[in-house]
Amino acid sequence: MERATRIEEVRRRLDPERNAGRRIGFVPTMGNLHAGHLALVARARAECDLVVASVYVNPLQFGANEDFDRYPRTLEADAAQLAEAGCDLLFCPRDEEMYPNGLAEQTRVVPTALAEVLCGASRPGHFAGVATVVAKLFNIVRPHVAYFGTKDYQQLLVVRRMVEDLCYDLEVVGVPTVREPDGLALSSRNAFLTPDERRRAPVLYQTLCWLAEQLRGGRRDFAALEEEGRKRIAAAGFRPDYLAVVGAQTLAPPSPGERELVVLGAMYAQAARLIDNLPVQVGD
Ligand code: AMP
Repeated sequence: MERATRIEEVRRRLDPERNAGRRIGFVPTMGNLHAGHLALVARARAECDLVVASVYVNPLQFGANEDFDRYPRTLEADAAQLAEAGCDLLFCPRDEEMYPNGLAEQTRVVPTALAEVLCGASRPGHFAGVATVVAKLFNIVRPHVAYFGTKDYQQLLVVRRMVEDLCYDLEVVGVPTVREPDGLALSSRNAFLTPDERRRAPVLYQTLCWLAEQLRGGRRDFAALEEEGRKRIAAAGFRPDYLAVVGAQTLAPPSPGERELVVLGAMYAQAARLIDNLPVQVGD
């Protein structure tokens, strides 16, 4: 696997490949890789001629009081895992390469209202930071296909919408969430859980499963369901952030008869905020 830290190096490496008609798959990450990230790489490996991954902890998407400084940075271990998974090129830029004019002076992508609800309501500016860095990475790598986890469902929708609205000539593929045997979605932030919190953390997924079951069983009293779900999370010793049943494409409260739904949740442990979601297809 080759490694590049400069934008120019990535372009020099990929331009001839693109010109030769090779299909380039791209997996953007913030590193500290686990089996969830590697599922994206495996999918890219299976579908593309050339696999590019990025490892970059993007300061623009972190709020002032969030975990940017202590976000786990494990570049050498990440590079070893990527090489093993068949990645061809790793792009791991420094902040000066990505934001040469500084964060305050950076031109930004303004996402739609999709970015204002759920995680966007709890993390103002987060999705603008995500959309901006993803736009830059797309312009640097110019992939044919980009792979994102459905674990970050709202992020996937924001990116898909940006690709459509800004006319990016690429396909966005969503890859199902990889979970621990007890249901907890793999996340770099799970490392911040105490052993006791880790034992109780599957309550988020369990609550989403319970909600999905209620919906499939015909319940449509969304507010009551969300409230009951929040109680389950609180009873397990976590502070619920949000729990929501929404339309799978709109992230808005479901309209009567809407069949493609998603239940999403976020909760706070002592030193981590965890998110998860579950798609739900309901009958009439
Ligand atoms: P991150 O490094 O957290 O920014 O994640 C990079 C990519 O990996 C994003 O597209 C995430 O949605 C995806 N991802 C993170 N965790 C998982 C997981 N447990 N299963 C599948 N994809 C994941």
